[in-house]
Amino acid sequence: MSKSLQAIRGMNDILPEQTPLWRYFEGTVARLLDNYGYKQIRMPIVEFTELFKRSIGEVTDIVEKEMYTFEDRNGDSLTLRPEGTAACVRAVLEHGITGGGQVQKLWYIGPMFRHERPQKGRYRQFHQIGLEVFNLDGPDIDAELIIMTWRLWGELGIRDAVKLELNSLGTSESRGRYREALVEYLSAHHDKLDEDSQRRLKTNPLRVLDTKNADTQAVLVDAPKMADYLDDESRAHFEGLKARLDAVGIPYVLNPKLVRGLDYYSKTVFEWVTDKLGAQGTVCAGGRYDGLVEQMGGKPTPGVGFAMGIERLVLMLETLEQIPQEISRQVDVYLCAFGEEAELAGLALAERVRDELPNLRLQVNAGAGSFKSQFKKADKSGALYALILGDDEMAQQVVGFKPLRGQGEQQSIAWDALAAHLATCVVQG
Ligand code: ATP
Ligand code: MG
Repeated sequence: MSKSLQAIRGMNDILPEQTPLWRYFEGTVARLLDNYGYKQIRMPIVEFTELFKRSIGEVTDIVEKEMYTFEDRNGDSLTLRPEGTAACVRAVLEHGITGGGQVQKLWYIGPMFRHERPQKGRYRQFHQIGLEVFNLDGPDIDAELIIMTWRLWGELGIRDAVKLELNSLGTSESRGRYREALVEYLSAHHDKLDEDSQRRLKTNPLRVLDTKNADTQAVLVDAPKMADYLDDESRAHFEGLKARLDAVGIPYVLNPKLVRGLDYYSKTVFEWVTDKLGAQGTVCAGGRYDGLVEQMGGKPTPGVGFAMGIERLVLMLETLEQIPQEISRQVDVYLCAFGEEAELAGLALAERVRDELPNLRLQVNAGAGSFKSQFKKADKSGALYALILGDDEMAQQVVGFKPLRGQGEQQSIAWDALAAHLATCVVQG
């Protein structure tokens, strides 16, 4: 196939053999969020470029080098969303649904776009489930977000493979004081910093903390610590969060170098990390952003949220072999009919059964075919049972009921009794 007709590098098709696992994952998360009282919101995939510059911050990796930005036919600069928080804040402001201190607990799902170097667990179109809470400023809600994800890892069977890293960035005042101290210290060691960190020192000094460069890391050993600069309010908030995690029994490690890539965080930041996926180890990340809504032109509105990467979590389910058995079988019953008269009767019978058993996964053979070829298709479909309609069955108004996975002998079931019989044999999801 010519290159121009292939998918764009880093943008993947999710093939039919993979979608059951995706739907299982997405369904599990959606049900959990419903149960905790969160409501779904859906935003456009394209926004004005200015939105992301303003919210994410001009001197972040995303805005500096990862956005898919283009001019539309009106000459407006638009960008494929690299993350969901900015658009979510825009939406709540535009519709006034956080006004007057209204609490909103929202979640969204969908593709995000970043021009990064594609590799395992890192793509240019990837998918997130994200969540944002507005107008709750206490540590109780920070804790709830973490507790929910902890429950999710439990339900998915991957709890032992993830670790919670936690830090507090303080209020903007305390972070400002810390930034000053850090800049002063790092400036005194300017020559020992790598080039990227020298640049960040001027533009976004906190980001120097998460450098991968060994020399810079050595300099950081004696650098001032954020924890020493937290004001009383930030400290109390952080203690409140830790007390709640302790109460529920969720283990965590404090990581003073956790600063997150985006500018807008304050107080709590956290990441769920795993060592099962190689370098792309963060599966879920988030934190509090009390200043963001105001920065985007709204009234001061506390906010907190997180986003998880669906590709990475699906990879984890595969790597840890936590794929529930029932999702691999997509057909319960396969109906084979031989001859035109049987085919017509089979269609009508199938619809009657579907009326009574709406959750039954019943596949009707299409494309006719011999005895042998239809049975082959029935078997290949993964169905537990084949239903057979041939001349004999038509004459007696019955259907042959044939177990395909060795659960007993073939029997004849009267058409009228078929739905009731299936209801006893097939566990319906
Ligand atoms: P990373 O450090 O891995 O680049 P990030 O800090 O840029 O992640 P966030 O913006 O916090 O990521 O996004 C939340 C989650 O989305 C990440 O923890 C990760 O699971 C997922 N994610 C981010 N970028 C990608 C990508 N390019 N491909 C696949 N998943 C991604
Ligand atoms: Mg990134």
